[in-house]
Amino acid sequence: MHISIPQLLAWPVRVLGVLALLLAMPFAHAAAPLVKTQAPGYYRLMVGDLEVTALLDANDPWPEALEELFPSLSAEQKAGLRQRTLAQPSHDFSTIAFLVNTGKKLILIDAGGGSGMPGYGQLFANLKAAGYAPEQVDDIYITHMHPDHVFGLAEGERRSFPNAVVHADAHELPQWQAAAAKGHKTAQAIVAKLAPYIAAQRYEAFDGDTRFSPELRAVARYGHTEGHSFFIIESRGQRLQFWGDFVVHDKAQLELPELAPPGEKDAAQGIALRRQEYAAAASQAELIAGAHFGFPGIGRLRALGSSYIWVPIDYAAMPKP
Ligand SMILES: [Zn+2]
Repeated sequence: MHISIPQLLAWPVRVLGVLALLLAMPFAHAAAPLVKTQAPGYYRLMVGDLEVTALLDANDPWPEALEELFPSLSAEQKAGLRQRTLAQPSHDFSTIAFLVNTGKKLILIDAGGGSGMPGYGQLFANLKAAGYAPEQVDDIYITHMHPDHVFGLAEGERRSFPNAVVHADAHELPQWQAAAAKGHKTAQAIVAKLAPYIAAQRYEAFDGDTRFSPELRAVARYGHTEGHSFFIIESRGQRLQFWGDFVVHDKAQLELPELAPPGEKDAAQGIALRRQEYAAAASQAELIAGAHFGFPGIGRLRALGSSYIWVPIDYAAMPKP
């Protein structure tokens, strides 16, 4: 069969015509479903040669409004606090543990609330997402033994960090052991979380201000509990202070330094120390990591009259190797 040149050229023209028609036709476009997941709960930065990773353990709306949280506030103070801090009636409350890789040791600061506390225990998934495994942790330094900082240590008698040694101030555990002996249920649960480490001779108490290595030391900041401690890391002239629960509600307690968080053992002591530490941190632009500041919980304090404002660190890429 003979096909002429004009016939041959006509075919592509027809095909293109059909394609153009198809493209011009309106077609149904499915709505994108809502994804409904958050970014992974870890954030990393370098402090000199030390790699620090903030690990989110829980983030839930605080069960109480500001008013219930700080019953000592006057009605006037509450209204003023809301206005100045923009604090919402309820706010999401982060619980954060911090991982420090010195290059020689993998150190965890606090262990989160574990799977036994509703909404807690995300530390383990976030640790994995951050590239680490619980077996790699060498040392765990505990700021204090409230449940949201130690319940993540063990599941029953099984140590969740099987190769780690747990360190805490010598004043911390005895208060819980004494309360446990009197039948206090939470204290009994706290003691039970430490027990597997004590049984395995993997628990070491230190007494007050203690230097563990050139990069790491503890500073006694008793008040919130009897043995509440700061941990400070330093490398190449850079420093980061882990404050534990020294400040629990960042907006309210920085605006009103005279506020003590709920459940503080010695509120007068806590308040006096906060006034002192806030002033020092602001004047030195100290880098602070708080267990309950908004995730990743790392930033600085800025003085504003008799109050302070939290200045979170900016998101930053990791330095190029
Ligand atoms: Zn806490």
